[in-house]
Amino acid sequence: MGRLPLHKSLGVAFVAMVIVAALSAAGYLSLEAFEERDAAAKAIDLQVATLNVGALEVTSPEEPDLDDVEKWGWITELRSPADDALHALTEDEAEEARLQLAEIADHGAMVLRGVAVTEEEHQHERLQTLLAFAADRSARDAITARRQAYAAIALALAAVTALGVELLRRRFRRQAVAESQRTQVREGQRLQRLLNDSPDIFMVLDPGGASTYQSASAARLVGRTRGSLPSIEDLVCRAHEQDRARLRNHLVASDASGEPEVFELADLEGETGWFAVRVSDLTDDELVAGHLVTVSEISREVELRNELRSQAQTDHLTGLSNRRTLDSSLERARQAANTSKSLIAFATLDLDGFKEINDSLGHQAGDEMLIKATQRLTLALPPDDILLRLGGDEFGVVMIGVQNETDALNRSRVLLSVFDEPFKIQNQRLEPLRASIGVAIAEPSHTGVDLVSHADVAMYQAKRTGGSAVVAFEPAMEDEATLTANVTRALRSADYDQEFHLVFQPIVDSKTLEVVSLEALLRWDSPLVGRVGPDRFIPLAETSGEICHIGEWVLNAVCAQLSAWIDQGLDDNVTMSFNVSARQLTDAQFVPEVFKTVAAWNLDPARLVIEVTESSVIDDNGVAIGRLGELRARGFKVSIDDFGSGYSNLGQLLHVPFDIIKVDRSLLVTLSEKREMHGGDPTDACSIMQAVVSIAGVLGAPVVCEGVETEAQRTSLISSGITYLQGYHTGRPSPAEQTESVLGLGPVSQRGTRVEDRLAA
Ligand code: C2E
Ligand code: CA
Ligand code: CA
Repeated sequence: MGRLPLHKSLGVAFVAMVIVAALSAAGYLSLEAFEERDAAAKAIDLQVATLNVGALEVTSPEEPDLDDVEKWGWITELRSPADDALHALTEDEAEEARLQLAEIADHGAMVLRGVAVTEEEHQHERLQTLLAFAADRSARDAITARRQAYAAIALALAAVTALGVELLRRRFRRQAVAESQRTQVREGQRLQRLLNDSPDIFMVLDPGGASTYQSASAARLVGRTRGSLPSIEDLVCRAHEQDRARLRNHLVASDASGEPEVFELADLEGETGWFAVRVSDLTDDELVAGHLVTVSEISREVELRNELRSQAQTDHLTGLSNRRTLDSSLERARQAANTSKSLIAFATLDLDGFKEINDSLGHQAGDEMLIKATQRLTLALPPDDILLRLGGDEFGVVMIGVQNETDALNRSRVLLSVFDEPFKIQNQRLEPLRASIGVAIAEPSHTGVDLVSHADVAMYQAKRTGGSAVVAFEPAMEDEATLTANVTRALRSADYDQEFHLVFQPIVDSKTLEVVSLEALLRWDSPLVGRVGPDRFIPLAETSGEICHIGEWVLNAVCAQLSAWIDQGLDDNVTMSFNVSARQLTDAQFVPEVFKTVAAWNLDPARLVIEVTESSVIDDNGVAIGRLGELRARGFKVSIDDFGSGYSNLGQLLHVPFDIIKVDRSLLVTLSEKREMHGGDPTDACSIMQAVVSIAGVLGAPVVCEGVETEAQRTSLISSGITYLQGYHTGRPSPAEQTESVLGLGPVSQRGTRVEDRLAA
């Protein structure tokens, strides 16, 4: 129990002294009051005795009823005038009173003895006055003393009360302090119990590295020591030898920030686990005064993380490592290459036509195919090379010990040859599957991403050349590939309504120059890559499949424009032509979509001409031909575009349902150039054109010639029997407003720019 502070003890002593003093004073004053009261009474007794003795003088001694004893008592009283009865008088007064009292007593005695005396009455009067004085003063002093005694008692009572209150207060305070100390102790015990129950280990290390505290759980790592606590080294030695310096530094670091570090520690039974060791510098905290070390076991978390990592790095279908392991695989390859002084090559292998297998036979067949392809590739690979599945039908190979580029290409060809043998999937023997491989040699600065990107560029080049090929990466390929990638990305995020618009190029009667149709051509102004021509972005949109959405947009815009022009009075004979890609024709939704859109605009299908290229129609199992038949049955017209540009197969063309043949510009140019070389007349009829016209004639189709740029060409084409022309000579592709004036649809003042007018000008 704590002792009272000095000033408080002094306070108590002072109050106690006040009580004692007040009580003593009260006692003393009470005595005094009694004494004064006695003195007053005695003075009065003396007065009475004086009067009685005086009376003796005048009464006869023979008075029978007077008791002598009493009379002698009066006289005795006068003879011994107690000082205390006279003390209220001054010295002189008291002396005078004493003398007179003695005289009166003597006088009285003589009277009693019968001795004759002379009367001295005046003495009595003076004495009575003095005695009355004395009585009066004593009585007054008695009252004063009594009052003072009461005051002292009141003071003493007040002091006693104050002391009592103070003592009670102290008692309560002591109880409160004792209660709070008990609570603290309990709280401490509770905390200790919680700490002991925690699987985490807590230790406090003083600046010298000695432990000043350890929780019960610490016993697992550093043992249970009674009396002496373990030192830092008892913990450090639980770590792997090569980890000990790191752990030691971590434990004593002056900038201990509480950031945990992970260590593998062995407990006293030799069992190892992963632990997060957190050290907080609490040296300035007087209760701790050291580094608080918290050691938490995280073995389960580490295990889980490793498991997740390995799951995340494995392709579940094939069991191969996936793209995420590329960098680590490359690192391993680099170490091997350093020791063997060889090169590393990276190849991407993409299956050609895998998507078709997936689409036609289903995903299960596709998966089986990938598993089988993986098995064959694994068998064909040198043991140290690493096969990865990069995603979809794309594999990656890290080639180790490569001598030069030729070596890498040869190894890749071996991989390609595993596909020669047809696959048997779902008990079905498939056509041999092919693959395209791009190869890149790794430079020391290359990351995994660089290598994949180079190999991909080469692989796409291999695909462009028709597939089933191996191509080595060359830097020049990359610029083209980057541009293509940028355009593809921009196209994917394009806002069609904002970025696309149509221009229209007239197709005219070769002789009368009357506009018979307008070809809608798509234009794209991208905020990301600027204006991009359709020759560039349409093939990309075809590869990505985006052409189907773009085609929907084009058809809708074509219908909207045609409908508006019809409302403005467009001639009934004028049609609108638009281009449809091969990819669109493979889409089952294409035909219903066309029907729906045209119906929504309330247009007669006969006013729409669908332009498709020969190759898009012929190169499939009749699906496109069937769709074109459906469209024609509804009244749409079909035009075979770019005729004569590819490997025209007239025989096959006979099976294609079409209404118009459009001769490609390249044919016209080639013919014009040849004629010029041989000094012929450019306006003469051309036999090849005539041949085309006559074949088309057999099929009942008129011929349009594209790319007509000169009047000489027009003359020649008229002579060759070409019915319609399209080209810069008769009108460039132009926006809708300009086309309106060509069509004579604008206000009268603008109608002077019709085709014939311009040709005349
Ligand atoms: P195309 O269907 O053969 O279109 C004719 C192309 O020749 C147009 O190029 C046109 O501007 C150009 N041209 C017309 N007259 C002349 C001429 O006298 N001399 C020269 N040198 N060229 C002329 P454009 O507009 O760049 O279109 C290129 C190709 O893009 C089109 O070839 C077509 O295959 C495709 N395309 C354009 N718009 C669309 C579309 O909406 N959908 C699809 N699927 N393809 C489209
Ligand atoms: Ca066209
Ligand atoms: Ca064309």
